[in-house]
Amino acid sequence: MGSDIPHEVAHSALEKARGAMLSKQIEARGITNERVISAMSEIPRHLFVNPDDPAQAYADKALDIGFNQTISQPYIVALMSSLLADLPVGSRILEIGAGSGYQTAVLVHMGFEVHSMELIPQLRQKALEILSEQGLSPASMVNGDGRRGMPEKAPSAARSRRLPRSWVNQLSEAGIIVAPLGGRFRQRLIECRKEGSKLLRIDHCEVRFVPLLRG
Ligand code: SAH
Repeated sequence: MGSDIPHEVAHSALEKARGAMLSKQIEARGITNERVISAMSEIPRHLFVNPDDPAQAYADKALDIGFNQTISQPYIVALMSSLLADLPVGSRILEIGAGSGYQTAVLVHMGFEVHSMELIPQLRQKALEILSEQGLSPASMVNGDGRRGMPEKAPSAARSRRLPRSWVNQLSEAGIIVAPLGGRFRQRLIECRKEGSKLLRIDHCEVRFVPLLRG
């Protein structure tokens, strides 16, 4: 029984850190959507990062996950998720670049049918294991180049200079693309929706993402 105490102490410290992340980084910056808040308050983000420093998981920054990739900053995950939060439960989402699987977990928790693509097999494998342990497995996660897309789509977690044409072609009438667009040091988080034959673009904010790689 005694050996359980340090674990419980550590656990409550992580829960506290998660609460602070939500109030100081997410709600304080204007994200109030209930589906996003409940997903991010219930999902143990520390399980998706390097186990050596779980408390860092709740810091206001992106973190290294190996293979030159990062888990996105909590606020950016919240923002991208909130841009999709008006889509009804059960909507099909294509996520490009699952990485740690944390954004995948948030979207699955929000009730979406998530199809994810990840280029690096080891990251995909690890993400799938954690997601399954958490009961948050996506509908599918394929190992492949997301620049080609899949039948439907959504947030892209890696930047590119312009939207791959396949993503726009595959976007459904009521669908939304959320993606970071731009060069190495400056990108803008862009939301795109189809309006008749036009693509409506809404520019949200400056972001910094790792690049979309060629598969
Ligand atoms: N949402 C993830 C972010 C991961 S970083 C998280 O928060 O953990 C970007 C991810 O995109 C990396 O895992 C990288 O391997 C993946 N990636 C880069 N180019 C890709 C491509 N062309 N197709 C699929 N995945 C890609």
